[in-house]
Amino acid sequence: MSQNYRLPCSCGQEIVVQTSQAGQNVTCACGRTVEAPRLRELRLLAPAEAVPRTEYRAPVAQVSFPRIIFVLSLIGLVATSLYGGLMFLGLQSLDLGMSEEQLAQRDSETIDKMNLEQLWGAWVSLRSDGLGLEAPPPELINRYRSKQLRGALTTSGIVAAAFATCGAISAAFSLQRKRRR
Ligand SMILES: [Zn+2]
Repeated sequence: MSQNYRLPCSCGQEIVVQTSQAGQNVTCACGRTVEAPRLRELRLLAPAEAVPRTEYRAPVAQVSFPRIIFVLSLIGLVATSLYGGLMFLGLQSLDLGMSEEQLAQRDSETIDKMNLEQLWGAWVSLRSDGLGLEAPPPELINRYRSKQLRGALTTSGIVAAAFATCGAISAAFSLQRKRRR
C-alpha cells in the first residue's frame, strides 16, 4: 500500500497525493492543476489516510430491496401453500354424506312412512320447538365446514398467486440490476 500525502492547493483545500504521483500534475477538487512535488519533498507533507478520498467508494449494500421482497414473497408463498394444503386435506377428510336432494328424499320417505299419530306428534314438536332447536345433522355441519374450507382454500390460492407475482417481479428486478453492474 502506497502512502498518501496531503498537498495544499491555493484554494485552501488539500489534494490527496499518492507517492506514485510524485512530480506529476494532480487536479484539485476546485479544478486547479497542481504539480505534486518530487518524492523527497512529498514525504515532508502531512500524511493522509491510505485510501484517497477521490477513490473511496461507499461499500455497496449486499442485501438489495428487491432481494428482501423476493425472500419475503418466497416465505409468504410457502406459508400460504402450506395453509392451502391443510385446507385441502381438511376438505378431503370431510364426510359430506348425502347430497341435499338425497336428504330431502330421505325426509319425505320418512314422512311417507309415518302413521297419522306420528305425523301429528312431529307436527306438534315442529310447532312448539321450531326447526332450529335440534342440533343440525352432521352432514349439514360438514357441508358448512366444507364451504368455509373451500373459501379459505380460494383465499390462500389468491394470496399465494399474489406472493408468486411479487417474487417473480422482484427476481426480475434483481436480475436486471445484476446485469447492469
Ligand atoms: Zn484547489
